[in-house]
Amino acid sequence: METSTPAIVPGRACGSCTLCCKVLTIHELAKPSGTWCPKCAVGKGCTIYSERPTPCRTFLCGYLMGAQISESWRPNRAKMVLVFEDQGITVHVDPGTPMAWRNEPYYSDLKRWSSEVAAVRANVIIAIGRRVIVVLPQGGETDLGILAEDEWFLSRELSSFSGKRLEVIKVKQDDPRLGAQGGARGAALKPRHF
Ligand code: SF4
Ligand code: SF4
Repeated sequence: METSTPAIVPGRACGSCTLCCKVLTIHELAKPSGTWCPKCAVGKGCTIYSERPTPCRTFLCGYLMGAQISESWRPNRAKMVLVFEDQGITVHVDPGTPMAWRNEPYYSDLKRWSSEVAAVRANVIIAIGRRVIVVLPQGGETDLGILAEDEWFLSRELSSFSGKRLEVIKVKQDDPRLGAQGGARGAALKPRHF
């Protein structure tokens, strides 16, 4: 895919990886997440390269952009595509290997990232097609199941005598709590690739 800004980590390239052409939604082509784009020559590249839609031209996955991301996250090896977005890190898992995120070293990375991004009120999100799982900084996950087109989630920090924990619930996109100051976090922005 495209190699524009931001910069690609030296030594990294798409090569024979075409996984983003499967796991991401491309609205311009009415292509849902989790199915191969009909324009993709799997393992080779795009058959409409010069006419590919803008999202395909501008997309760079987290593996290409993140110098801190280990080589094990190469998408066609991990069977997952990392996407860095304002609301955190979304991990788009190949539906053909839906439990890939549970394997090591991936699961440990996800738990660590969840704690790190919590400091900036962001989330680590596992997306398997339209199924969404949020990795919790206190440990464990919340599986929200399949999100409908008009649904998203909100997450909020709860305090008790035993400490702080993140609560994540599924809501409609017009839920007023999504925009509440200091309440929901990382939730008002819907990932463009769902
Ligand atoms: S997932 Fe990343 S490495 Fe693979 S083809 Fe897409 S942009 Fe390139
Ligand atoms: S149009 Fe090309 S680059 Fe875009 S998803 Fe399809 S195969 Fe991939």
